[in-house]
Amino acid sequence: MPGTSTQALTLFGGEFSAPERESVFQAERLPDTLRHTRLLFLLSAVLNTLFFISDWRFHGTSHFYVAIPARTVVVLIALLCLWFLRKTTSFQGAQKVMIAWEWVTAAAVGVLVSSHSDLALFVVLMLPSIYYLVVPTAFRWSMTSGVACSVMMLIGYLSPGGPETPVIGLILAVVTLNVALALVLTRSNRLQRTEWAATQAERRANQELTQSRAMFETMFKTVPIPLVVVRTNGEIVDSNEAGTRYFGAHWKSLGIQSVDEVYINPADRKAFVEAIQKDGQVTDFETLIRLADGSIRTVLLAGRLIDINGAPHIMSAAIDITERKAAEERSWRVVSHDALTDLPNRAFFQGRLEQALAEAERQGTGVSLLLIDLDKFKAINDSLGHDAGDVLLKGAADRLRRLIRDDDTIARLGGDEFIIVIADPAPLVRARELSERILTELRQPIPYGAELLTCHVSIGVASFPAHGSKPSELMKDADLALNAAKARGRNCAVVYTPDMRLHVEHKATVARGIQEALQWGQIVPFYQPKVDLSNGRVVGFEALARWRHPQYGLLTPAAFSSAFEDPELSIAVGESIIRQVASDIRRWINQGCDCGRVAVNLSSAQFNWIGLAKRFLEVLQSADVPNHRLEVEITETVFLGRSATHVAKALKQFHDNGIRIALDDFGTGYASLIHLKQFPVDDIKIDQSFVRDLETDAENAAIVLAVIELGMSLGMDVIAEGVETVEQARFLKEKGCQQAQGNFYAAPMSGKDVPSFLKSWEPPPLS
Ligand code: C2E
Ligand code: MG
Ligand code: MG
Repeated sequence: MPGTSTQALTLFGGEFSAPERESVFQAERLPDTLRHTRLLFLLSAVLNTLFFISDWRFHGTSHFYVAIPARTVVVLIALLCLWFLRKTTSFQGAQKVMIAWEWVTAAAVGVLVSSHSDLALFVVLMLPSIYYLVVPTAFRWSMTSGVACSVMMLIGYLSPGGPETPVIGLILAVVTLNVALALVLTRSNRLQRTEWAATQAERRANQELTQSRAMFETMFKTVPIPLVVVRTNGEIVDSNEAGTRYFGAHWKSLGIQSVDEVYINPADRKAFVEAIQKDGQVTDFETLIRLADGSIRTVLLAGRLIDINGAPHIMSAAIDITERKAAEERSWRVVSHDALTDLPNRAFFQGRLEQALAEAERQGTGVSLLLIDLDKFKAINDSLGHDAGDVLLKGAADRLRRLIRDDDTIARLGGDEFIIVIADPAPLVRARELSERILTELRQPIPYGAELLTCHVSIGVASFPAHGSKPSELMKDADLALNAAKARGRNCAVVYTPDMRLHVEHKATVARGIQEALQWGQIVPFYQPKVDLSNGRVVGFEALARWRHPQYGLLTPAAFSSAFEDPELSIAVGESIIRQVASDIRRWINQGCDCGRVAVNLSSAQFNWIGLAKRFLEVLQSADVPNHRLEVEITETVFLGRSATHVAKALKQFHDNGIRIALDDFGTGYASLIHLKQFPVDDIKIDQSFVRDLETDAENAAIVLAVIELGMSLGMDVIAEGVETVEQARFLKEKGCQQAQGNFYAAPMSGKDVPSFLKSWEPPPLS
């Protein structure tokens, strides 16, 4: 502990061991010492003057002539020292005067005691006592002067002619007296210094306390942070200027007594006080308060329990974070919400789904996901423009938002896809109810200028715990269910079933198989002839993909059609087919066979590849096959798929380079006749479903007729596919259909059989 050594006292003497500390002690007591010493000298002068009366009894004896001068010396030295003392400003100076007084007085009194009277004996013992106990010199000087005085007293008293006092006894008595007085002085010194040190410490502590109080007061008043001191019951005791400024008025001027009136939420105030009482202090406690003008602000409170006059109080500081919170909220919304619909985005939704699943698992309840897709969004976007698309998205988002409960979560995943998470003890029941309401509500058209936008949706539903427990699993399930809803004709809701996953797994197996098949050259084109109905000639072929499966034999696309819809596989299969077709055509030409024009089928997924047309042209060129030898067959779905934007470009490129374009499976698609006008279509292929029952089904016959007429009026060739009977062939020929294709003429055949087929070709008789 600092200061401990400076407070240590000498064992014999009882003074501070540290000289500088002793000096401080003496210096502090100097006024008292001087006053005391002056009194001592004054008393000495007065009392010794009075002793002249006592000395008068020696009148007439020889001692009288010794006593009077000695007494005079005692009186004079006292007066002289009194005079000297007036000029003294230090303890050392005062001590010198005291020592001078002691020694001169001792010498003079030594002469006086040679009277050997009883009084003299008393003085012998008394004067050293005065030196020890009354004169405030340093201990070593008290002792020195005391001993010197005793010796002088003894010399004087024991001078010849004195009483028959036992000398040894007297000396021993004086020695004992000195020792005893030294001990008494030591004890007195010790007590004085201990007391002084204690007083000093107390004074210092008080000083520090006063200083820290003053500092605290200043800080409290001047700190630019709003501060308030309250009792634990909320009663306001004090607040600083910043507090008044921030609050907008002094609380007293508004008649506010308690902070309770400032808190918006009383429970917050309770929690704040409880936390402070528990831990002594609290930081970063967020709450809402009302200011003098009635505005509500968000503040971060820091509070501390303080003691004021023995009673617990709470001092709180407030930092306004309203703007910061608003900025945080704004940036949070930017990151987590979709700007167009103001719905949470995918990232936000992921977190909510995880939360909802964890909560449901804990509480033993359930969660349902409703994955929602706007049915004709793309068509509206393409035909009416992006503004209409935005209006549709916003309108749909608003309606969906209105249909859900507060504790449900809705998000826009991107494009025209929305998702709703509902937590419910019976998640599927609620999901079905909500789906119904969504389908009904969204069927109402959305106004866009003078137009009305149809807003049908397809919904896929997956649920926890029935279908999956992981977010990714559930999302996949809901996606599968949505695909199923689209496959069922859209505008409906479908709940996930495990066979949907089996279907996907089957697709994956097929994809793996096709990849291998491509490597081993097992995907090959088969060729089915197209016959000119007017003269029975073979005018070309359609290339149809076949899988020479090592186990199952020759497989038709029915077994692997999913490969044509896979973005990557379809391109790989297409590449393989076109290369083989080109090389077959080249070979046939070289063999002198006129194979006419060969048609290759293209799926919408293949159009995802921007370089499709360019690649086909390259392949034809490298195989040295003229472009007019190739035709491409597309179905109407290519105009609707995601790749629709590339379709127009690719078709134009094909067409501009002399490659004909046939619209396959005509009559079964979703597109309108406008496509025939918009795109460079050369041929129409009537779907085989209309050809099949031509003879018996009047409606089919009417459709076929209508298509033939349509083709004629638009200047397009019409090809009937799936012709199986002579009646069908005859009908088609009679009605003016240009070409026919089907098993009636020939089933698809391998490339190596084509030359012999052509050589031996005889058109079947139609009569
Ligand atoms: P598609 O283009 O409409 O082809 C005609 C389909 O009718 C072929 O089936 C053909 O074998 C079949 N067919 C021909 N004549 C008759 C008949 O008299 N009666 C019956 N019932 N059917 C007949 P396939 O070969 O199974 O091909 C099915 C579909 O797979 C094709 O329909 C085409 O859309 C697609 N496809 C075939 N090869 C390819 C290809 O290389 N690429 C792409 N993208 N799709 C292909
Ligand atoms: Mg075809
Ligand atoms: Mg077809």
